[in-house]
Amino acid sequence: MWKVVGHNRAVSLLQRSLERGTLSHAYLFVGLPHVGKMTLALALAQALNCAAAEPPCGECDPCRKIALAKHADVQIIGLDSPGNSADDKVRTEIGIDQIRQVQSSASLPPFEGRCKVFIVDGAEHLSLEAANCLLKTLEEPVGRVVFILLATGERFLPATVVSRCQRLALAPLAASEVEATLKKLGVEPQKAKLLARLCHGCLGWAISAASDGGLLQQRAERLDMLFDILGADYEARFTYALHLAAQFSQSRDSVYEVLDSWLDWWRDLMLFKVGCKDAITNVDFEAMIVEQAKDFGLAEIKEVINRLQMAGGQLRLNANPQLVLETLMLNIPRREGAAREASLPRFR
Ligand SMILES: [Zn+2]
Repeated sequence: MWKVVGHNRAVSLLQRSLERGTLSHAYLFVGLPHVGKMTLALALAQALNCAAAEPPCGECDPCRKIALAKHADVQIIGLDSPGNSADDKVRTEIGIDQIRQVQSSASLPPFEGRCKVFIVDGAEHLSLEAANCLLKTLEEPVGRVVFILLATGERFLPATVVSRCQRLALAPLAASEVEATLKKLGVEPQKAKLLARLCHGCLGWAISAASDGGLLQQRAERLDMLFDILGADYEARFTYALHLAAQFSQSRDSVYEVLDSWLDWWRDLMLFKVGCKDAITNVDFEAMIVEQAKDFGLAEIKEVINRLQMAGGQLRLNANPQLVLETLMLNIPRREGAAREASLPRFR
């Protein structure tokens, strides 16, 4: 009855705990963005408050309210939730005020359901103060309250908080599973195949991209930038590096997305080179992959993949973004006779 695609181990563990009444009072769901952490958390909240004989039914009044985020006893706390007192531009942390509100709410009995559920979305963004405050609540569990922390990784969470939670790792789904799900949702087969590859097992992204053409458009622009760079001289490449470094200071994730798209592309060139063309990600660009793969040697492709991975790693370790990106630009080989010889970046 759980309306969750994949994550069978996590679902059956939660189901068993529910049946035996051995549910933990705090969970930590760890997995990539859009892999299904929030879906699973809401399903657990439904299971805890469902009015049907076999919860979660997804149909009863509490289940519907939870799905629409309108249930009084299921609260989502995140960077963008209303309790965050920081203004829009500096919302980089889940603050202590938000957790104090949670503490005060957790001390009251459920308002309309059987169990209060607090979902902390992006728990890695908890400020140290907020995490310590939450720790106190986790150390002194009260009845009929469940905390579900969602995080892409736990390294930014205090070990004391992690140790108070039951940890469930959500692995990316298989591309075939995503593709089948998208088709069931009415996405046309070619698009379903493409999105299933591009999402790398994160169904939530694929579902968003199926209805929001902007996501595929952004990915096309990221690849266009790469194709421009392949034909660009050093001066133009440095301008790209400067542009990306400026972008990094505004939105780190958008630059990681650029590097990830480029990594996918070079990985595709490598897969084609070694005869595994069925495994490529950018299935809609197959003709271009065939064409470009002729222009680069396998060693050269592997070197670019290394350089891209290295650049991503250095940025995550707070290296100087301009320096990292300039070095990367110098190490992307020039493609003689590139389809579009770009001498100037389009950002100017
Ligand atoms: Zn229900």
